Amino acid sequence: MTDSPAVEVLICGAGAAGLTLAIELARRGISLRLIEKMPTPFPGSRGKGIQPRTQEIFEDQGVLDQLLATGGLYPPLRQYASDGSYTQTAVIEAEPPTPAEPYHHALLVPQFLTEQVLRARLLALGQRPAFGCELTGFVQDAQGVTATLTTAQGEETIRARYLIGADGGRSYVRHTLEIGFPGKTLGVRALVADVHLTGLKADAWHQFNQGSPAHQLAICPLAGTDLFQIQAPVPLEGDVDLSPEGLTALVAARSGRDDIAVQSVSWASAYSMSARLADRYRVDRVLLIGDAAHVHPPTGGQGLNTSVQDAYNLGWKLAAVLNGAPDSLLDSYEEERRPIAATMLGLASRLLDAAKRGDMHRGREVRQLDLGYRESSLALGTQRSEGLLAGDRAPDAPLRGAAGQPTRLFELLRGTHWTLLGYETERKLVSPRPGLHIHMIGARGDLIDEQNLLRDACAAAVGDWILIRPDGYVAAIVNGNELGALESFLQRQGLSA
Ligand SMILES: Cc1cc2nc3c(=O)[nH]c(=O)nc-3n(C[C@H](O)[C@H](O)[C@H](O)COP(=O)(O)OP(=O)(O)OC[C@H]3O[C@@H](n4cnc5c(N)ncnc54)[C@H](O)[C@@H]3O)c2cc1C
Repeated sequence: MTDSPAVEVLICGAGAAGLTLAIELARRGISLRLIEKMPTPFPGSRGKGIQPRTQEIFEDQGVLDQLLATGGLYPPLRQYASDGSYTQTAVIEAEPPTPAEPYHHALLVPQFLTEQVLRARLLALGQRPAFGCELTGFVQDAQGVTATLTTAQGEETIRARYLIGADGGRSYVRHTLEIGFPGKTLGVRALVADVHLTGLKADAWHQFNQGSPAHQLAICPLAGTDLFQIQAPVPLEGDVDLSPEGLTALVAARSGRDDIAVQSVSWASAYSMSARLADRYRVDRVLLIGDAAHVHPPTGGQGLNTSVQDAYNLGWKLAAVLNGAPDSLLDSYEEERRPIAATMLGLASRLLDAAKRGDMHRGREVRQLDLGYRESSLALGTQRSEGLLAGDRAPDAPLRGAAGQPTRLFELLRGTHWTLLGYETERKLVSPRPGLHIHMIGARGDLIDEQNLLRDACAAAVGDWILIRPDGYVAAIVNGNELGALESFLQRQGLSA
């Protein structure tokens, strides 16, 4: 057994959650090791829907344009009747984007391409996953975690200050910690297969037999590839033939068409759906993110998105604690994210029931733009009857720099810092400090809110201050008489002048 150099964070699992966390830590200069037991990247399309809130996160991480260039938008949903006629609708009921919500459409990016883009971003930050490296044991003490890693070369031990279980629904880390994972299997088994086929155009998400749960069939072109993703419920028990011939026969039986032929299968799986939520997300120096903490049915496309957002919530907190912020900041991760996962489980299960009836409508709730943390201990609650409250997602807003250049609030938020906006007030009232960007809005400020959209969103009055967290949620909106509370709050987050 060999010893590896110590790191601050060991991340177990290089799926979407582990990669997002690694980016968050790497861009803050935290030393890390990201390990993945599979010898090569996961090849399947699984979580192909990137929701608007996740797009905002990916914009902040500098990968959104690349993702759009790699994948695309959802094609229309084409539902066929038994006589071959069809109706066509939008997959997601989306209104046009607004200045506050620049992304309203889900992106369609096969998960293996999303992970490829995230790996490229991580590499630009100087890190890469170690493939073929499995976590096979760990113990923790007051200072850190000692982990055993198994590779083709043998075993090694590594010491880390924190271990993050981003190791998926069957999480080894969760099992080792003996954290309960209550929930239920949903009595639905489905196949998902990425295939090359002939007989269908890639201009629609083709759906057959939507009113008949046992015989549904959905065939979606995978943007950025020449593959289609086949999804179909299958019997709860028994073998499923995932060969090209087997899938061609299934497609023919369910579509009534003999002109669609599966030529090859690049990845396929038959899986039973369940909805489960971990009892705890943290045991001292070990935390769970992503599917390790919650598993969802795929309806509504929430699983990957919730996993990415777990990592985005945890990343800045972990970095802050490693840089001296109080350990209690880490407890706010479970406090904020576990209720969100519980809500998502309910939503995905309701959509699954609707899908069984053949009338699933993905409304505003799947976009995840209204999720927030008002009840969190990190929301500096003050009495406000109008506008945004602490814990809400900060909206985007068009602004103009004092020098005349157009900008957006999201451009000012991009990066690893906290942001404090003073509205028509004096900069000198709050001391500058590392990790905090201060902007003054108003006639004598460095920013002009020409359309008053930010003012209206916050119901900001002269003298108000708006504090926004590194992950884009409002931490506080206070007036000039509440600056003492703001100062104490900043210090509690490790932001001292
Ligand atoms: C058919 C299907 C469709 C889906 N559609 C959507 C969708 O449209 N939108 C959406 O948001 N979500 C969707 N999902 C869910 C989505 O795929 C998952 O939520 C997402 O993959 C979770 O990411 P993760 O990083 O937490 O876990 P995973 O992607 O499971 O990654 C965990 C990684 O940890 C590794 N690992 C495990 N144990 C160890 C160990 N001991 N040592 C080292 N490495 C280890 C695994 O090999 C794996 O690579 C879908 C899922 C399925 C099955």
